[in-house]
Amino acid sequence: MIDCHVHTRLCRHAAGAPLEYVAAAEAADVSVLAFTDHLPLLDGSETDYAMRWRELPDYVLDVTQLKARAASPEVLLGIEADWTPGKENLLREALSQHPYDVVLGSVHFIDGWAFDDPEWKARYAEWDIDALWMRYFNELAEAARSGLFDVMAHPDLIKKFKFMPSFDVAGLYEAAAEAFADAGVAIEVNTAGLRKPCEELYPSQAFLTACRRHGVRASVGSDAHEPDEVGLGLSFAYDALLAAGYDAVVVFRGRKPFELDIR
Ligand code: ZN
Ligand code: FE
Ligand code: FE
Ligand code: ZN
Repeated sequence: MIDCHVHTRLCRHAAGAPLEYVAAAEAADVSVLAFTDHLPLLDGSETDYAMRWRELPDYVLDVTQLKARAASPEVLLGIEADWTPGKENLLREALSQHPYDVVLGSVHFIDGWAFDDPEWKARYAEWDIDALWMRYFNELAEAARSGLFDVMAHPDLIKKFKFMPSFDVAGLYEAAAEAFADAGVAIEVNTAGLRKPCEELYPSQAFLTACRRHGVRASVGSDAHEPDEVGLGLSFAYDALLAAGYDAVVVFRGRKPFELDIR
């Protein structure tokens, strides 16, 4: 199995050193492990959401050294980058500075609000939830179409705290799947949702099936924030992929897609 989304202590809200993640992956029978720590925020603000700009070279060096090991798992250098509308050029420039294997694109902010941070959960009360879902899915499609990312991470993160819309979301899934297909980005099946209030994978089965129908490739990740979480829930992710009709997952090496059979 592959785990192409893990964090380390560098991003300040996760624990564990890269080598501990590699050991955990080995124990969990993970054959491909992509480190995807959070890229520092583009506005330079120093939060607990990401590493600092001055720490990024060390992160790259640490993971690059682990990539050189001959043993399993295969290690990949990735990064998780926030979609920040209007800052596409800055982000493109930042991403060009290191030889990433894979770039995950994440919508974590809407108008600067970290809607997935439990600390800011009360802010849902200020929103019409239907409008919020439409807004989120617009941002997601725009992010996909920016061409900056290889994989759209936890693609329906907006469901995290279970503030669900009143309308049928099939149309939103359809539009997102279309955007992913047009842009050639993959969707991520992320098991962290199983450990959150929504208690299900990101994305929902219907969203994943829509992506499959549109020929969108799929990646898989635990979004581990501690070594013990590496590989967690992956069997559920693979079951969901098979049920959606997938027969392969994708890994990116040097930002080029390679498909691995899952049957
Ligand atoms: Zn994180
Ligand atoms: Fe994320
Ligand atoms: Fe993450
Ligand atoms: Zn994440």
